[in-house]
Amino acid sequence: MSVPSPRLRRLIYRSRQSATPIADLEFEVGNIVRSSIRNNRLANLSGLLVTIQGYFLQVLEGAPDELDATYARIAGDPRHLDLEVISSEAAASRLFRDWEMCARALSTGDAALVDALDSREHFDPQRLTAKSALRLLTSVAQIQRRTAMAGVG
Ligand code: FAD
Repeated sequence: MSVPSPRLRRLIYRSRQSATPIADLEFEVGNIVRSSIRNNRLANLSGLLVTIQGYFLQVLEGAPDELDATYARIAGDPRHLDLEVISSEAAASRLFRDWEMCARALSTGDAALVDALDSREHFDPQRLTAKSALRLLTSVAQIQRRTAMAGVG
């Protein structure tokens, strides 16, 4: 059985995007991913960033000290607000080791993902639980891997 390690932590948070037109959002997300890859590589952090319905949902995993320092920087970024940590816990292994950072935009049209969260209710980013957020992020990771293997995206 894999046991959570005190040396590896996984943090998931949600935030509201600061008001920007969609085209600017894509540009900003490109900037964010570029600086994240650069910084996260140095800090040995892995993770994924999802944009959905005006929100960011991000998972970061790595050593607690590096994670804390990075999250403190992210929390002060004016490109988003109302950050809320959904979960922060010791992990047995990395689930997002493929990426220092990678972003994917989800829309309500991505029914398969949204339905995977809760088939009974309309998807609400504000009501994500630790379990549903991780399920969504791991589904996105699987799609990213499939599209990478197919040589698209
Ligand atoms: P640079 O990337 O070189 O930027 C220089 C300075 O300009 C920084 O202080 C930056 O904050 C600021 N800046 C750049 N563009 C803008 C802008 N459009 N509006 C306001 N200020 C701006 N950083 C990580 O290292 N790892 C992550 O995983 C990560 N995830 C993020 C997720 C989200 C949703 C957001 C909004 C930001 C994230 N960032 C992440 C970026 C982080 O907030 C810092 O901007 C970045 O870490 C600073 O990196 P740098 O010192 O190399 O500065």
